[in-house]
Amino acid sequence: MSELRRQLLQASQRLVELGLNRGTSGNASVRDGDGMLITPSALPVSVMTTDSMVRMDLKGNVKQGGKPSSEWRIHSDIFVARPEINAVIHTHSTFAATLACLRRDVPAVHYMIAAAGGDSIRCTSYSVFGEQTLSDNALEALRDRKACLLGNHGMIALGRDLDDALAIAVEVESICEIYWRALQAGEPHILTAQQMHEVKLKFSDYKKPE
Ligand code: 13P
Ligand code: ZN
Repeated sequence: MSELRRQLLQASQRLVELGLNRGTSGNASVRDGDGMLITPSALPVSVMTTDSMVRMDLKGNVKQGGKPSSEWRIHSDIFVARPEINAVIHTHSTFAATLACLRRDVPAVHYMIAAAGGDSIRCTSYSVFGEQTLSDNALEALRDRKACLLGNHGMIALGRDLDDALAIAVEVESICEIYWRALQAGEPHILTAQQMHEVKLKFSDYKKPE
């Protein structure tokens, strides 16, 4: 059993444990050489095994396994366009999906939005799941970012590996919850471009001790 298959299964299980996905909602992938490993379509995580993971090239051809996630286009298009990205996570997590139903970009309501790569998390217009237009719109919304919302659908989070993508998905869901809750209580203050610039400078020095 390959280490990447084990990591992909573990990340998929973690997404369910954390309440970010449920049933067959959402999917995940990891770059594997010149192709990718992706979760299977329409299989609940509770019954997935390492053998369920599907190996594909980045042109849409299945190399090993059964039916890949219906969102394989988003995953392969990201791996082609973003060489620094090695893992992609898609969730229908409640707060990200709620804001996606409002078709709202998330502004710099909390400084941790910088973890998603910039001053905002963009939201795409609506496209039916699995379609090329959804992937095209996601790629555009992900420009200079590591996360976006998919209109009336959910979230995409990117990382240098599965742990990184998972951490970003958790952070984005948390920011969406904060924004949603703040909107219930009043009109949230949004951090300015200068304030976010200061955060980015601080982040460049914010690392685990060696
Ligand atoms: P898959 O089971 O095909 O991955 O579909 C789930 C999903 O979230 C579609 O957007
Ligand atoms: Zn979905």
